[in-house]
Amino acid sequence: MLKDMKMASVRLMQRAGVFERASASRWRRERLLILCYHAVSIADEHEWRPNLCMSPALLRARFEAIRRGGFQVLPLDQAVKRLYKNDLPPRSVVLTFDDGGYDFYKQAAPILREFGYPATVYQTTFYSDYPKPVFRTASSYLLWKCREQILPADSILGIAQPVDLHTEAARGRVTAGLFARCDGENLSGEQRNELLQRLAKLLGLDYSAFEASRLLQLMRPQEIAEMSAEGFDIQLHTHQHRTPLDEQLFRREISDNQKRISEICGTRPTHFCYPSGHYEMAFLPWLEKGGVVSATTCDPGLADRESHPLLLPRFIDTSGQPLLMFEAWLSGVGQWVSARRKAKSALSGQRPAMAEY
Ligand SMILES: [Zn+2]
Repeated sequence: MLKDMKMASVRLMQRAGVFERASASRWRRERLLILCYHAVSIADEHEWRPNLCMSPALLRARFEAIRRGGFQVLPLDQAVKRLYKNDLPPRSVVLTFDDGGYDFYKQAAPILREFGYPATVYQTTFYSDYPKPVFRTASSYLLWKCREQILPADSILGIAQPVDLHTEAARGRVTAGLFARCDGENLSGEQRNELLQRLAKLLGLDYSAFEASRLLQLMRPQEIAEMSAEGFDIQLHTHQHRTPLDEQLFRREISDNQKRISEICGTRPTHFCYPSGHYEMAFLPWLEKGGVVSATTCDPGLADRESHPLLLPRFIDTSGQPLLMFEAWLSGVGQWVSARRKAKSALSGQRPAMAEY
């Protein structure tokens, strides 16, 4: 009901020309909209996780809206510098893609090329060097693919009773058990992959075909190097997609990630994105010591000169976001109508699911 009322008022504002006036305003000119994308579907991933995956057609529609509205897409480094110098061009936008999946290479890059837009990829590197499906997301996806089935009991996977996979809750219980075991026993990438293969077999799926599809895999070093050589900006997202609370371990995640990206691309990455949007104030000096000059969160908002450079807000664009709201965010109106929420993890002190791995 509230959502309907909000949409109705946003629609009224659009019809009354408020979007256009906001877009052209000095207020908007002093602000930077950093858009956050995750995966662009190779197959049906957007039906599985509409909040993380978007179809290529929808991404193209978003870029058309950016072009239609006269918005200027800037490279991240330039945009951040100009933000703090109060030198942004009108209607400035930055495009960021988290994780560096193979889908970026296969699906997002061709669309970016078509529009001539620069983009930053926040690249994790562990699964780039270990070219297998990312365990957590892949196990969840395979269970969803087989949601009409009953998963038989299996002692190796630790499944005591057959599980009806119809509901998300039931599938979530299976993955929670698998993840707890991986973390508890500190299983290696190979051991996790063996579990994934076993799960696929139990579900009657062809694991080899799944692996060959490159679904839910990261870009390999050669692909990252190609993207970088073409001009896409490869930046930091930790080596293993995690933010340990221990300073040494945290800084190691950053330095391992920096080292691999430097080796692959011949660049020195200094921009960072918090995995799963989770941050703690303690991380800020640790990032500074690692030479990081900007960091983006998943807190919704437009960045302005008052924003801390290591806590830059972003708008997470998802499949469920109506075009009207996307356009409201481009203009800046989206920030006015959305109650600003801090990331739940930062407020409650609860850490989100540690990693997608
Ligand atoms: Zn991520």
